[in-house]
Amino acid sequence: MSEGRSPRNVVGCVAAGLAGLGVLLFLSTFFSAALNFGNFDNFEARGRSMALRAVSGMTLMIIAGVIGGVSQTRRVERTISGIHGHALRRPPPGNPPQPAARQVIKVRCKYCGSLNDETAEHCEHCGGSL
Ligand SMILES: [Zn+2]
Repeated sequence: MSEGRSPRNVVGCVAAGLAGLGVLLFLSTFFSAALNFGNFDNFEARGRSMALRAVSGMTLMIIAGVIGGVSQTRRVERTISGIHGHALRRPPPGNPPQPAARQVIKVRCKYCGSLNDETAEHCEHCGGSL
């Protein structure tokens, strides 16, 4: 039992190890395919073992990706919450909410000059078409 070890580092090591193993397993199928090129003795059995190795290699890589992705996600979440916390630490002191910031688009009537909603088709004031 070793103490003082970050569990995330262990997870990352496991993920890297699994990924490496998976890649090796996956690539070994191509090497054995190249070595046995043109050799059709026992082709079916070899093909089956190659498929098994390729599948288990891919499975290992997927598992490693999931494990690594989880530890990666945790790191990203921590970074985001860190940025968020920093932003929260400086609130604008005594700054009243400005109504001007809320942009409302108005359409000016060409007949009477009054302002109408952007969506309005007729002037509220004189009824002329906008
Ligand atoms: Zn009008």
